[in-house]
Amino acid sequence: MSSKWVYSFSKERTEGNRTMKALLGGKGANLAEMCALGLPVPPGFTVTTEACIDYQKSNQINEDAKSQIIAALKEVEKISGKTFGGGENPLLFSVRSGARASMPGMMDTVLNLGLNDETVISLAKKSGNERFAWDSYRRFIQMYANVVMNFNISILESTLEDLKEARNVHLDTDLTAEDFKQLVEVYKQIIANESGQSFPTDPMEQLWKAITAVFGSWMNPRAIKYRELNSIPSDWGTAVNVQAMVFGNMGDDCATGVCFTRDPSTGDKRFFGEYLVNAQGEDVVAGIRTPGPINESSKNDSNRNEKTLEEYMPKAFAELTSLYQKLEKHYKDMQDIEFTIEGNILYLLQTRNGKRTAQAALKIAVDLEGEKIVTREEALMQLDPEVLNQLLHPRLDPNVPKKVITKGLPASPGAGSGMIVFNSEKAHAMNEAGQKVILVRQETSPEDIAGMAASRAILTARGGMTSHAAVVARGMGKPCVAGCSSITVDYVKAEMRVDGRTFKEGDWITIEGATGEVIEGEVPTLDAEISAEFAIFMSWADEVRRLKVRANADNPEDAKVSIKFGAQGIGLCRTEHMFFEAERILAVREMIFAEHKEQREKALVKLLPYQREDFIGIFKEMDGLPVNIRLLDPPLHEFLPHTEEDKKELAAYLDVEVKTVEEIGERLHEFNPMLGHRGCRLGITFPEIYRMQVRAIIEAAIEAKKANVSVIPEIMIPLVAIDSELAILREILEADIKQIFKDAGVEIKYKLGTMIELPRAAITAAEIAKHADFFSFGTNDLTQTTFGLSRDDAGKFLSDYISQSVLPSDPFVSLDQTGVGFLVDFACKEGRRVKPNLSLGICGEHGGEPKSIDFCHRTGLDYVSCSPYRVPIARLAAAQAVIVNK
Ligand code: PEP
Ligand code: MG
Repeated sequence: MSSKWVYSFSKERTEGNRTMKALLGGKGANLAEMCALGLPVPPGFTVTTEACIDYQKSNQINEDAKSQIIAALKEVEKISGKTFGGGENPLLFSVRSGARASMPGMMDTVLNLGLNDETVISLAKKSGNERFAWDSYRRFIQMYANVVMNFNISILESTLEDLKEARNVHLDTDLTAEDFKQLVEVYKQIIANESGQSFPTDPMEQLWKAITAVFGSWMNPRAIKYRELNSIPSDWGTAVNVQAMVFGNMGDDCATGVCFTRDPSTGDKRFFGEYLVNAQGEDVVAGIRTPGPINESSKNDSNRNEKTLEEYMPKAFAELTSLYQKLEKHYKDMQDIEFTIEGNILYLLQTRNGKRTAQAALKIAVDLEGEKIVTREEALMQLDPEVLNQLLHPRLDPNVPKKVITKGLPASPGAGSGMIVFNSEKAHAMNEAGQKVILVRQETSPEDIAGMAASRAILTARGGMTSHAAVVARGMGKPCVAGCSSITVDYVKAEMRVDGRTFKEGDWITIEGATGEVIEGEVPTLDAEISAEFAIFMSWADEVRRLKVRANADNPEDAKVSIKFGAQGIGLCRTEHMFFEAERILAVREMIFAEHKEQREKALVKLLPYQREDFIGIFKEMDGLPVNIRLLDPPLHEFLPHTEEDKKELAAYLDVEVKTVEEIGERLHEFNPMLGHRGCRLGITFPEIYRMQVRAIIEAAIEAKKANVSVIPEIMIPLVAIDSELAILREILEADIKQIFKDAGVEIKYKLGTMIELPRAAITAAEIAKHADFFSFGTNDLTQTTFGLSRDDAGKFLSDYISQSVLPSDPFVSLDQTGVGFLVDFACKEGRRVKPNLSLGICGEHGGEPKSIDFCHRTGLDYVSCSPYRVPIARLAAAQAVIVNK
């Protein structure tokens, strides 16, 4: 451990910089950086995190550190020309904690430290403002009692309220110097009576106790809990920042304010901000007085008549202007700056990267690159890929107030209003009649596709981020709130209940899918605006990334959207959705109920032309790009009728009894996770189903080719567990394909491969790869099924990898951190060991999640595939993966 415990910072001499967060904490490192830049920051010093750790051992500040603190304090006195604890010009301090990571639960700030009955008088004289001095003193006592002495200050607060009542005033600002003087006496007495300790009058004692309190707060239960929840090691410790106070409220040559180097809502390059004369920071926030504009371009309707800072304090304003440009260049980003002016002298208290809207973020990144403040790669790193979400979906008009009913999971972004409906048929009918609806379900199933497509938004009471509703809504680009467990959906009464309130079918609600909010009534939305900057920015991402980005799309419309968003192919076309359309479902059901092969084939012949048309439509949209089509995946019972009406209709169509329909339904029913008779296993018992689908794909490809469309079909077999399943199907299907080519006199290049979505498939990937042209990781099922894989079992197969694993996995934890991740990694290595040119992709929901995309990049996948609306997010995440892994 070093024996340097204290680092000074000031415009004159600074010992730290921004790389020293571990030792100086985030705040300390940033203060040092600003000082090193020569900015006018009030001088001070940082007591290191190592001093904090040392303190924890003995419960006292070591002698060495103490003498360094005193030396640093003397330096601040010299620089500021003020003296601590006495003299004509008293030096006061702010004392703040500052850990490596920002940490709520730690000790807050103490301001004005150093005041006592004597220094307050000097301060009053020096400032010529007695009221200011006594107000500062009583604030100090209150803050110090609270955070250092752990005193319950509610009694002090009520004393203040009593005094205001006695004076018949509403605001603190209406109290006089005499009032505050009196309050200080009362406060001191209350503290002595209640705590049995007198309030420390010696400034040095105040300082030691404040520093000790910050160190002590590192081990308070709130801080410990926070560290536990956020995996922050307890041996990091916190630093303490002791900094000279400057006052914006000492008179009319003082002011305080906040400014932004660019417009945080539009991104426009204009310096703007607000200020208040003779005020402290919190007065700006409190909204009691209307702040004035710092310059002409900051004027708005409410402050148009106020004097600007530029007019009022031209010298300080000119300095602020030159500093903001310097700061932006240095931090390479738009800054949000807090400043104070004391006696016409400008001080910067803080600068940080400013918060901004999605539109502004994009514009600022593109502009900064144009101004050569950042490189292209730096610009690409400035945007959180998820932010793009806000640019691609309609959003609520932020200027309209909203009444939030409840909140669920933010399953699919965007905002939409409509009337509540509880079933898909109704949603469909009302939409046809031109009404706006929101489908509210306990949960959705493939049967609800049409109803979901007809709705503005979807709300479900059950299900998570990878539930059917969530996945399908994201695919459709519709807002969805899922797993909203506070609502009860009552299909019988056609109502939903939440917190004792009832909403009926036909009532209006609004869904905000990016936050999970369910809102009463209709809230107007603003359309997504795709700007010129968007295209420029995305083209930069495309230049940098290695991973290709495909989309999951099941129909020509989705394919079209995905092309618009820059998809380079389809990574997953789920064919089961095509089976649900009204005119087909009966033929599908006829196929399911067939008692022998001939009967089944007869039904399948009816489906063939539909499937072929579906694929032709998609191939045409995706001209020149690969289209990966997955053969039928779900168990057959999912296609059976559920309502009495549908059961009757089917019974009549098949000329059987309703009872028979029900019995067969029972027999076919599978339970979660439904790994038995479905996917490739269903394909093996009833090969005619897959044969029909493959025929449709290949014939569609031939037809598209004839129409001059360049087609690259990929046929994907789902749910393979062992290599023989794939081998058997490959042989059957390729024999058909050969025959089709022969009959047509045309050949088309295609690939046949499999989804890796079961742990067993991942573990036996080397065997499976022998029969596959590609793997596509189905991390949705892999996530569900890995849940049952214990570390020990996995370890038998994967001893080399097990140390990296965390089991079981959560679908929205990055692949990096889950058992799923190492199964993917393992399968990639095993697959490529056997077949070096094996194509590798991912089509589960992780394919659109930025951290998982980083994982996919590092793991060497060829592409990720996600819902069309997430394609831009994936493009940016893939570019960032290249940059951060360089
Ligand atoms: C998967 O399992 O990850 C997958 C993409 O398939 P589905 O979500 O259709 O089961
Ligand atoms: Mg699956």
